[in-house]
Amino acid sequence: MTELKGKSVFSGIAIGKIAILKKDNQSVKRIHVEDTAGEIARIGAAKETAVEQLKALYEKAVKEVGESGAMIFDVHQMMLDDQDYLDSITNMIETQNINAEYAVAVTGDNFAKMFAEMDDDYMKARAADVKDISERLIRVLQGSNGEGLEADEATIVVAEDLAPSETVQMDKSKVLAFVTRFGSSNSHTAILARTMNIPALISVDYNDEIDGKMAIVDGFEGKMIVDPEEDVLEAYKNKHQEEVEKRRLLQELKGKENVTKSGKKINIYANIGKVSDVANVLQNDAGGIGLFRSEFLYLEKDTFPTEEEQYQAYKQVAETMAGKKVIIRTLDIGADKQADYFGLDHEENPAMGYRAIRICLNQPDIFKTQLRALFRASIFGTISIMYPMIISVKEVRRIKEIVEEVKKELTEEGIPFADVEQGIMIETPAAVMISDLLAKEVDFFSIGTNDLTQYTLAIDRQNAKLDNIYDSHHEAVLRMIKMVVDNAHKEGIWAGICGELGADTTLTEEFVKMGLDELSVTPTFVLPVRKIVREME
Ligand code: PEP
Ligand code: MG
Repeated sequence: MTELKGKSVFSGIAIGKIAILKKDNQSVKRIHVEDTAGEIARIGAAKETAVEQLKALYEKAVKEVGESGAMIFDVHQMMLDDQDYLDSITNMIETQNINAEYAVAVTGDNFAKMFAEMDDDYMKARAADVKDISERLIRVLQGSNGEGLEADEATIVVAEDLAPSETVQMDKSKVLAFVTRFGSSNSHTAILARTMNIPALISVDYNDEIDGKMAIVDGFEGKMIVDPEEDVLEAYKNKHQEEVEKRRLLQELKGKENVTKSGKKINIYANIGKVSDVANVLQNDAGGIGLFRSEFLYLEKDTFPTEEEQYQAYKQVAETMAGKKVIIRTLDIGADKQADYFGLDHEENPAMGYRAIRICLNQPDIFKTQLRALFRASIFGTISIMYPMIISVKEVRRIKEIVEEVKKELTEEGIPFADVEQGIMIETPAAVMISDLLAKEVDFFSIGTNDLTQYTLAIDRQNAKLDNIYDSHHEAVLRMIKMVVDNAHKEGIWAGICGELGADTTLTEEFVKMGLDELSVTPTFVLPVRKIVREME
């Protein structure tokens, strides 16, 4: 038994035989040609054929993995039309009197290298795409169409790297898992693997001897166990079976509405902490993002993230969610979320201390940087902004003044931004009690039941000793939720829950009855909550 470590890009368990994917080595010879115009014409014709192939792949992918997963083949078509790429090929043919295949191979290598050296992870991952389109062109020029991916039985596909077109061309029923030595979690292959619901690992250092051997891919732990011992295999078979059953039941709910039998609807969104969590949101069919805890962008760094870094992150999330609502919460640092570079003093009661919106209002430079990034990103999708730890109308009015200053600056700089919905978190008893007044000031409420429970019951949510009495089902908390919803509706705004209680399926029915408009939960809870909603009267 050998255990190979890797990095998981999609969870799940797969058990089966390994098939190492050996690609036909595209040997491309350099040949001297006199008729350069003829070679250039061959490129034109090959490009047409390649585009036809990509269109067919796009159609296949739309059916198998949906519109967003298929997008890559649209991108490939655009790449084939890229003037710099084509100019490089024709220029080489003309100036060096070389054959079309060779010019494509060299151009493909050059462009791939150029992408690979870029700083941006997304652009880096485009190296695989440019290689992919170049290999396709060469195959067409050489008159070959096979990509050597046929297999009789379902296998764990192991490869050096996988091009998106290879991934999607595989017969899904024949692939148990993807395992590669190279590739990145940003690559489209990884994205497709996630959309295809197949466990996938990258960065696995394997040797050819594992070909044909029995193995387990553990996408939860990020490892592949080759030649597993009997008891290990048995344990994984059970785990796998449980997974299959769970997924089967929930998958049936994908694409279905969150509607009760009597027709009452509720939005079910997902909570995220980092950009890469968006894959999980889509995977679980959430209607939007109800809470993006933006402070994680600050926590994973040892200095303040710049406006540009934040802008890129928010833009990527908004774009990937393709118009679905993305509610981004402004910085909620302090208390249990500490970053040294903020230089926050030690406090006796940090949960009730200098944190969240209090820092932002006291240090508007930090706040403005984030607001600028958010408004700049707002044109790439449907972004809403949400402010944490609110206790007064005065705070909200001050926030609005700062927002106006930011918008004015952007307008003066000629930077476009969209109309952004702005709401607040209701997570202090004070906010609950004045929710009638706050509702006149904002576009929505999102109830943070984690903090609301701690402040209402006077129980530190971090104190493990008090876990048994930290009761989010406490009548006081439930009454507060009802009060907030009613006050929101009186002013014609919507109210949701983004604290953990939103995912508590024993309360789903009560929440729907209370009139909550939205529940934002950990991505894996979207379908379980949908299930309860659909089962209720
Ligand atoms: C909450 O308090 O319920 C909440 C959603 O915010 P956080 O858990 O990040 O404090
Ligand atoms: Mg909170």
